Amino acid sequence: AKEKGRNNFQFFSEEMNRNAYDRHMLEHRLREAIEQEHFQVYYQPQWDMQTRSLIGLEALVRWIDPEEGMISPARFIPVAEETGLIRPLGEWVLRSACAQVQAWHEEGYPQVRVGVNISGRQFRQPDLVAMIDRILAETGLPAEFLELELTESYLMEDAEATNRILAFLKVRGIDLAIDDFGTGYSSLNYLKNFPIDRIKIDQSFIRDVTGSRDDAAIVEAIIGMAQSLELDVIAEGVETAEQLKFLQSRGCQEMQGYFFARPMPVDEVSRYLAENRDR
Ligand code: C2E
Ligand code: CA
Ligand code: CA
Ligand code: CA
Repeated sequence: AKEKGRNNFQFFSEEMNRNAYDRHMLEHRLREAIEQEHFQVYYQPQWDMQTRSLIGLEALVRWIDPEEGMISPARFIPVAEETGLIRPLGEWVLRSACAQVQAWHEEGYPQVRVGVNISGRQFRQPDLVAMIDRILAETGLPAEFLELELTESYLMEDAEATNRILAFLKVRGIDLAIDDFGTGYSSLNYLKNFPIDRIKIDQSFIRDVTGSRDDAAIVEAIIGMAQSLELDVIAEGVETAEQLKFLQSRGCQEMQGYFFARPMPVDEVSRYLAENRDR
């Protein structure tokens, strides 16, 4: 048993070193990848089932490494966040997404909004609003076509500062959505104090919504609350017709997920938009 204990200890310390090394490498490569723009923005459609129309596209960044291929944001966004590299990267994503969606509008594709994820570090950067103004001006995208996806965790950190920033964004006509709703802060008070337009029900509740009574109850409660607060509500991670049916029957009409489409690169989205032009 002693022997085993020691081995375990060695295993953990090696593992920790390896993780530190990996993280260091990843940070170094991430910095290079940002300089060399080894990223692409993928877009995932959002549908309104009531009007049967495509209403939005969520921008999701992809790191395309020349050797390793595609690296998942789940792996590098946390590192980007910790190191502060999320600021240049986030600015690049925002600019790319606004420019691309404006280009689609100008080419006569359906006028959809674009949702861009904003991490905590970005939300707290002092020049966030100025940066957004600059990007909207540069790309020509009207502010009402931009939606920012924010998460509960950092909005609550300093409610007064949050309210000030959200008010600045709101007067411009930018839409504000709470991402991963239900996984974070437990007080819901902020929903009536912050100028939020939409909540996105986290996919962890949707996954088993037709099998788990608990998840069904949570999803129903979120939809009901959104309705009484007059907020839009969208479900993410919708993969099956059964989930879709459940959500519709409970009054949630906006959806995003593999059932409709996966996140796609620009040329695939162009085809998708063309196919869905007349719906
Ligand atoms: P998220 O914002 O919650 O994005 C939704 C994630 O769920 C995406 O993963 C999407 O591909 C995936 N997804 C969509 N529909 C389905 C479905 O039906 N089933 C399942 N199983 N998954 C689905 P992705 O693209 O790997 O992104 C992971 C996370 O990385 C995002 O979660 C977001 O937190 C972060 N992220 C991605 N792009 C950006 C970005 O540009 N900026 C920031 N700050 N974070 C980003
Ligand atoms: Ca999101
Ligand atoms: Ca989400
Ligand atoms: Ca998520």
